[in-house]
Amino acid sequence: MVKKIYKLLLERYGYQDWWPVHEGNDKFLEVSIGAILTQNTNWRNVEKAIRNLLEENLLDWEALSKVEEKKLKECIKPAGFYNQKAKTIKGFVRTIKDIDRDRITRKLLLSIKGIGNETADSILLYGLEKPFFVIDSYTKRLFYRLGMINQKNIKYEELQNFIIKRIERDVEVYKQYHALIVEHSKIHCRKKPNCINCPLERYCTKML
Ligand code: SF4
Repeated sequence: MVKKIYKLLLERYGYQDWWPVHEGNDKFLEVSIGAILTQNTNWRNVEKAIRNLLEENLLDWEALSKVEEKKLKECIKPAGFYNQKAKTIKGFVRTIKDIDRDRITRKLLLSIKGIGNETADSILLYGLEKPFFVIDSYTKRLFYRLGMINQKNIKYEELQNFIIKRIERDVEVYKQYHALIVEHSKIHCRKKPNCINCPLERYCTKML
């Protein structure tokens, strides 16, 4: 069933070009900063903050390690929670900047204040191409509505294990599946779902 849902979403929405990175930039750095900035906000606000960082030539390891926190806060203000996010970015750069990328683990990322499961897995999957499936509130809501899990507030690792046991362990599949869930949750499976013409309608237990 988990595979079937993936197939149906892919058929409906097609290949998702994630994660968007500006040409010539360090993909790992830009994905990581984007993953931190996107906490509790939408992507449009993240884009504004990223644009500010680019204009100030701050999307760079050295520049980010040297920039004053005050300046960093000004740039990332559009993404909200900028005091906390500036500290997280500083902590991330301090911890990761000089480490060989092969040695960056989930445990290391989670040791940085402000980085939780979803942010760590997004960095590992989209920034480092490592097979970590990203769970977010859209994923929980969708699988709950489909009747595949019986509590909305299922633990992160529990849902992650449930999904990865049922699909092939493949970075591209993990990337696509997560991006497709986000797309589906914006178009159909919103907070107040728009079930008409939903590609998963046949399998859904909470269809309106
Ligand atoms: S039928 Fe409705 S509730 Fe079910 S997955 Fe589709 S949009 Fe969501």
